[in-house]
Amino acid sequence: MADRVSFLNINFDRMPESEAIEVLLARLLKRQGGRVYYGNAHTMVTAARNPALAQALEQGDLLLADGSGVRWGSAFLGTPLVHNLNGTDLVPSLCKNGAAKNLSIYLLGAKPNVAEIAAANLKKAYPGLIIAGTQHGYFSDSETPQILEAIRVARPHLLLVAMGVPLQEIWIDQHANLLPEITCMGVGGLFDFVALRIARAPYFIRVIGMEWLWRLAMEPNRMWRRYIIGNLVFLSLVLSCAVTLNQGEQTT
Ligand code: UDP
Repeated sequence: MADRVSFLNINFDRMPESEAIEVLLARLLKRQGGRVYYGNAHTMVTAARNPALAQALEQGDLLLADGSGVRWGSAFLGTPLVHNLNGTDLVPSLCKNGAAKNLSIYLLGAKPNVAEIAAANLKKAYPGLIIAGTQHGYFSDSETPQILEAIRVARPHLLLVAMGVPLQEIWIDQHANLLPEITCMGVGGLFDFVALRIARAPYFIRVIGMEWLWRLAMEPNRMWRRYIIGNLVFLSLVLSCAVTLNQGEQTT
């Protein structure tokens, strides 16, 4: 059963993967629209100093817990988010389950050509899936209206926005109301993985919750700040929240 869990002042929707797929697919096929995000340690650290991201997450219709940092931190604070619902696993499952129901998706984000290759790989894996369109994620503000128009005309069930945290959440927050009936989902580096530009961690590394270490090893120049400094900041956020909760308990 899904329930809402507050972790570091952000509300998550806690549910197992099978339920997340069911809930999402129903939302998409009914054309309910809305905003779906994933929250991992990097998201939480960024949201703590970026009010626009914190607001976007707050306005979301569904926020799913992603990664071992959030799982550990939430358990430490007594509100365990036990299910790891990262988009890299969930989106292919959604496509697989939706393919027989003519699910259509639009891929927005990543470097030029990556969304096209990712789309072709998804189509090959799930032939019933409809690719409504693709667009790279390096466009100017002046190009946004025509990109929105192209998405509106293509009318996918699902718009995958892969522009990284916090750009993708803020972009969705600002534009989802112009895309009624289309569910917008922020998916980070998903297209790079699906297009096989970046290798995913082997299964056993993912199972033991060490995918972040793999990503650090794959792209050390880009990821050291996120995973070395970011993880320390995340740890301090969790510990200071624990101290605050403890003080609250002692005064009541
Ligand atoms: N990206 C983009 N537009 C930008 C900046 C980044 O489309 O202006 C893309 C980038 O090419 C990459 C993705 O956003 O495909 C971010 O990937 P990252 O691995 O940082 O995402 P994560 O899943 O870790 O949040």
